[in-house]
Formats: sequence, structure tokens, C-alpha cells
Amino acid sequence: MDALNILKSKGLKKTAQRIMLVNILQAKGISLSENEIKTGMGAMYDRITFYRTVQKLIEMNIIYRIPVDNVIKYALNNTEEIKKFQNPVRFFCEKCNSTSYLENHPIPDFQLPDGYVIHEYEALIKGTCSYCAQND
Ligand SMILES: [Zn+2]
Repeated sequence: MDALNILKSKGLKKTAQRIMLVNILQAKGISLSENEIKTGMGAMYDRITFYRTVQKLIEMNIIYRIPVDNVIKYALNNTEEIKKFQNPVRFFCEKCNSTSYLENHPIPDFQLPDGYVIHEYEALIKGTCSYCAQND
């Protein structure tokens, strides 16, 4: 799906910033930091609009945050991208209602009762994300 259709499917207005952000993430196909996105946006970048755009796209589950070594990265919420995470641990922020995937923080091994077989597993942690903690 292209940026226009993604926004349309979520009932969002097609603002230039939203389209551009989704386009950049799609074109790169990897998670990007604000600085990397800023480079891609060029003169269109504006810090306040950027944060508003990101918040909205996170709220609508179009993108999500991945905290990597103290840098927040953004990635498109598509299953291909998520599959790259081993043992994805999701973190739900109760303040901004965003879901992040915690890269490099796999679920610790745990023992199941006899007779149970794991096919896949995931974890959901609830709390406050680093963004909200910093902007409290
Ligand atoms: Zn938050």
C-alpha cells in the first residue's frame, strides 16, 4: 500500500508531512531516527510538525517507536518489518497509547509445564515510554 492509501485506510487527512514521513520509511525499508528522517525531508522538516505527525501516526498504528541505544527510531507498522524482531517484546505506553517494539531486549527464557510446546511467543509490557518520561 502506498502512503496515500495507508492514510486513507485509517481515515486520516493526507497532509504533506504525513505522506512524506510514510514515503521515507517505505523507501528506506528500515527503522529511522528523527535525524535520518529529517535529512530525507529536507526543507519540509519542522520539529513541532514532525512530533505532531509522528504522534498521530503512532496513535493510528501506522508507525511505531523502537528505542535503540537511547535513540528513538521509527518504523512502519507492517508485519514484514516486525518479523525481523526476534522474540518481539511490545511496550505499551499508558500515557500516549503508543506501542513500541523493544529491539535487543528479548523475552527471557522461561520453562513451560510438561507437555506444553511453544510455537511462538510474545510479551506485552505496560508503563510509560521514554518519550513521555522525558516530556512529563
Ligand atoms: Zn508515551
